Amino acid sequence: MEPGIYIVSTPIGNLDDITLRAIETLKHVSVIAAEDTRHSRRLLDHLGISTALTSLHEHNERGKASVLIDRVHAGESIALISDAGTPLISDPGYHLVRAAREQGVRVVPVPGVCALITGLSVAGLATDRFVFEGFLPAKRVGRMRIFERLRAESGTMVFYESPHRIKEFMEDAAIVFGADRMAVFARELTKRFETVAGGSLAELNALIAGDGNQSKGEFVVMIEGAAELSGEDAVAIDADVLLLRLLQELPIKKVAAVAADIFKGSKKDMYERALLLQGRK
Ligand code: SAM
Repeated sequence: MEPGIYIVSTPIGNLDDITLRAIETLKHVSVIAAEDTRHSRRLLDHLGISTALTSLHEHNERGKASVLIDRVHAGESIALISDAGTPLISDPGYHLVRAAREQGVRVVPVPGVCALITGLSVAGLATDRFVFEGFLPAKRVGRMRIFERLRAESGTMVFYESPHRIKEFMEDAAIVFGADRMAVFARELTKRFETVAGGSLAELNALIAGDGNQSKGEFVVMIEGAAELSGEDAVAIDADVLLLRLLQELPIKKVAAVAADIFKGSKKDMYERALLLQGRK
């Protein structure tokens, strides 16, 4: 093999989802750097590959990167894989690739599966523009802050989420984006219990609440972007921004009164809108 660092995608569930070129590369490199060597050994055994493994994970990546780059300078070829899918995508490898490129080391993509692209390919949401947000912070306040930042985002929004937090994630999404916003969650893609469910955030929340199995496994959550607004609608959006912000500070009745005063609207309408934004309607 030509000396270099080969960034190799591996399956996200179904072990057959690996390219012929990935198999050839993994067979012939000097060493494979993997996030969890025991986990990756199972995949390599399945493929009949006996190449040596070395560990590279988020805690040792910086130190390990220079060791691996030295090996490439000495003429070796190194493959990087992660536990699933494409390395660097919510997975280790960024420091290694950055350092390698800075030092003029060849970095070769050997592309394949990636959960976010797999999810988008079956969601039926717009794919001409999307933003990938990866994992959001575990704490609610951090998650809400990012949702708020994305409120006016008009591209499809793509997130990764774990089973522990999927319920709260979806509930918070309904509060910020509105219970009527369309979304799709793709669970256990390419695996036995693969589920791709679409509907309004309210419908998806009802699905998750009504069936414990729907919050198990690994998730790609995709939320439709906001409609591009102009004229009168743009004013309505400003009212939402104000309502959401005030709801963080004041009781809902006060929020309705202040917003009605500013927008010269009725308190009742503002109250109803605030309830909707809170996801209680
Ligand atoms: N590098 C991977 C990729 O290319 O997609 C992502 C690794 S990240 C640590 C793991 C997250 O990806 C999971 O928590 C889940 O959000 C998503 N994911 C991975 N495999 C999945 C699958 N089979 N179905 C749905 N989501 C999956």
